[in-house]
Amino acid sequence: KNPRSSVIIVGAGISGISAAKVLAENGVDDMLILEASDRIGGRIRKEEFGEVTVELGAGWIAGVGGKQSNPVWELAKQSNLRTCFSDYSYARYNIYDRSGKIFPSGIAADSYKKAVDSAIQRLSQEANHDASTAHDVSVLAETPSTPKTPIELAIDFILHDFEMAEVEPISTYVDFGDREFLVADQRGYEHLLYKMAETFLTTKEDKILDSRLKLNKVVRELQHSRNGVSVTTEDGCVYEANYVILSVSIGVLQSNLISFRPPLPRWKTEAISNCDVMVYTKIFLKFPYKFWPCGPEKEFFIYAHERRGYYTFWQHMENAYPGSNVLVVTLTNGESKRVEAQPDEETLREAMEVLRNMFGPEIPDALDILVPRWWNNRFQRGSYSNYPIYVNHQHVDDIKAPVGRVFFTGEHTSEKFSGYVHGAYLSGIDTSKALLEEMRKDKGRKNENQAFL
Ligand code: FAD
Repeated sequence: KNPRSSVIIVGAGISGISAAKVLAENGVDDMLILEASDRIGGRIRKEEFGEVTVELGAGWIAGVGGKQSNPVWELAKQSNLRTCFSDYSYARYNIYDRSGKIFPSGIAADSYKKAVDSAIQRLSQEANHDASTAHDVSVLAETPSTPKTPIELAIDFILHDFEMAEVEPISTYVDFGDREFLVADQRGYEHLLYKMAETFLTTKEDKILDSRLKLNKVVRELQHSRNGVSVTTEDGCVYEANYVILSVSIGVLQSNLISFRPPLPRWKTEAISNCDVMVYTKIFLKFPYKFWPCGPEKEFFIYAHERRGYYTFWQHMENAYPGSNVLVVTLTNGESKRVEAQPDEETLREAMEVLRNMFGPEIPDALDILVPRWWNNRFQRGSYSNYPIYVNHQHVDDIKAPVGRVFFTGEHTSEKFSGYVHGAYLSGIDTSKALLEEMRKDKGRKNENQAFL
């Protein structure tokens, strides 16, 4: 029988590791971290591809240069993480049509302005509609101009699937600044997690050798009562603790990977199932040489196609890794799920056709392709939570509220910074602080009872 711990943390992504660190700093040393995969990091994940390190998950530190410092930027500085400034707002001036012509900047700017105006109009309609008690859907039916042409569709995709900063103030940029830095370090973004883990777990030569971290432990059942929690893993092990912190993604909570006994209350399951999950896929392509422009403001380019989101958003990696000859194309949601379901050769064929439309038939074939599968990964089931711009505060409160001895953390529990690395990092800290407070109260109650007896 495994010894009972004070706290079990399920998941060793950045929120799980930051939660564990806060517990350790407050004297809770007997925590246990159970991680389903064979590594820490979760959605922060590097892989060697085309002789460089690419980030399959989080790639940017978003929100830098403001009055307040982004805590993840601070961690990056402390760890000497190599980053490079990255500005995709110029992408809108590098829009290619199917015949390889770049749209004149005036046309692109006009289409962009139209899309921003339309998004603002739509949002204010939605806000008014939410505020009104009348269920009058006809107000919403009169939507502002719907994007139709390839350039309008491409800009609509960029605006809604990447940035909304020009439409609505986004807490990340308001609080931490509007600059973004791409992580370009051979040790990967995940190096930050190792540096954090090193402060409270035993490590040797960049390896964590601490029995309090257990990898390849897939939690399948969580029993909870007034007296404690009991966690069963796929390999049949049972771990007991006073409390559990669940840091698995919103996609995993929506799936049936973990069953709860007794089941979670209805307010909780409804909040979980009402949260949208975004799928965001970066596909990497390695070439024998580069054939794309690399000057200033050329890092990002866009392909305008009549199908929204069809291989729309491209980035070259020459700024991060000069001479790497690697391109990245980003797909989202339906397109992500479609390519996840097909063989990589088919995705390669589609991507090459798009590139030949933009740069001509003579460009070389890619030497290699890498297609991450966040949607089909049963330990992720998506890339990040996607709350509407006008967040219903009760909804996030319900997602993060504990159920008895079960505490919740992760990017999806962050009201201000959901979807970001810093959101996950800060949520781990918040959850552990709330748990420590609960532990103090619990101890107080026990002392009172003993004094009474
Ligand atoms: P996770 O990292 O998902 O950690 C949860 C852990 O739980 C995982 O390790 C998982 O394996 C484990 N787990 C799941 N189920 C079980 C189980 N049953 N038992 C045990 N363990 C389990 N953010 C940015 O700030 N900038 C970006 O540029 C950016 N780009 C992104 C691009 C992509 C493609 C993706 C996927 C994400 C991106 N994000 C970005 C978001 C960012 O990566 C996440 O918000 C953050 O890493 C989430 O951390 P977390 O600790 O909440 O969850």
